[in-house]
Amino acid sequence: NILVEQADPELFAAITAENQRQEDHIELIASENYASPAVMWAQGSQLTNKYAEGYPGRRYYGGCEFVDVAEQLAIDRVKTLFGAEAANVQPHCGASANQAVFLAFLQPGDTIMGLSLAEGGHLTHGMALNMSGKWFNVVSYGLNAAEEIDYEEMERKARESKPKLIIAGASAYSLHIDFARFARIAKEVGAIFMVDMAHYAGLVAAGLYPNPVPHADVVTSTTHKSLRGPRGGIILCKKEHEKAINSAVFPGLQGGPLMHVIAAKAVAFKEALQPDFKVYQQQVLTNANILASVLTQRGLRIVSGRTQSHLALVDLRAKNITGKEAEAVLGEAHITVNKNAIPNDPEKPMVTSGIRVGTPAMTTRGFKDEEAFLTANLIADVLDNPHDAKHIEKIREQVHQLTYRFPVYG
Ligand code: PLP
Repeated sequence: NILVEQADPELFAAITAENQRQEDHIELIASENYASPAVMWAQGSQLTNKYAEGYPGRRYYGGCEFVDVAEQLAIDRVKTLFGAEAANVQPHCGASANQAVFLAFLQPGDTIMGLSLAEGGHLTHGMALNMSGKWFNVVSYGLNAAEEIDYEEMERKARESKPKLIIAGASAYSLHIDFARFARIAKEVGAIFMVDMAHYAGLVAAGLYPNPVPHADVVTSTTHKSLRGPRGGIILCKKEHEKAINSAVFPGLQGGPLMHVIAAKAVAFKEALQPDFKVYQQQVLTNANILASVLTQRGLRIVSGRTQSHLALVDLRAKNITGKEAEAVLGEAHITVNKNAIPNDPEKPMVTSGIRVGTPAMTTRGFKDEEAFLTANLIADVLDNPHDAKHIEKIREQVHQLTYRFPVYG
């Protein structure tokens, strides 16, 4: 730290301020978490200096004997964690993991199916401005009247459009996904079945969310969300697809792998294999349920009526406030959330009628039932009276009393 402070005081100030923000605020962005000091140490190690194009034992550079060990540890551990036949740990992020799958199995113009962005899907599942939407013919499925995935619609559209690839997975869907049902229809129509479990990966690793690996041809994930590793991506697949996936990642899409990040992934996978990771994920679920039920009691509506995961999507319309306004005013109270469209949202995507709240980060800092209960009530207190600056200041003080009791990095 002293070295950075001397070399670059301006940057050091920004990092210090961000560290303090992470300590002071209650972090409820569902896709964020606090990586362990061991993960961060590995990510900051000398492995950042090493070029290692290729795969362990088959590199295009000399001097790879030690980074080979790191990458093989990451591969072996992630295969054990999820029960996968093959794994690629090189994708730089979740989006590039998904792109690699497209490159492995599709040609431009092919038809793909995914959950629409407006109903909880991710950009890379076929949004018009994303490569997935520009290069492929996208047939989206959505939610039914109960705000659950409309499996019948998905099956009907799959039979009609015969997609080459069907994607299951979401960024703002709180319920379990029936992966077996997706797999059946994919088989029937001759599609590759891909699951993007980025949001649920930590819960899956702990056995607390259905594991897509036995059902899917290929499973992608980020490593930095509920899985609590460094920022990055992974691809798991059946042995028969291993060659296609590996050559799509390198040389298809990427050059040199980020060996320091891969080392940090290995550390995170080891952490996720320990018994206390399951205890942590159980509390993530408990805390999400507490947020959803308290917010419901306080007059807000939870999309899909409940949560079976680490997140809940909150319909704010009963409080006459938009997602954009709620995100800003909760931010003033030092509660960090993101605005999020709800199904059939009357507001524009940059405004929205909802917020998404998630519990992986607050649970990592040690929040249990009591603190989750308090957090939900603080959110509702803000939303009940969002324009009174004094009121917001008082809530911010209560937030700080809570966060000071639970330092993240000490
Ligand atoms: N897939 C899903 C379901 C996501 O929610 C996200 C990110 O939010 C991604 C992929 C993309 O991950 P990244 O931001 O690492 O590219």
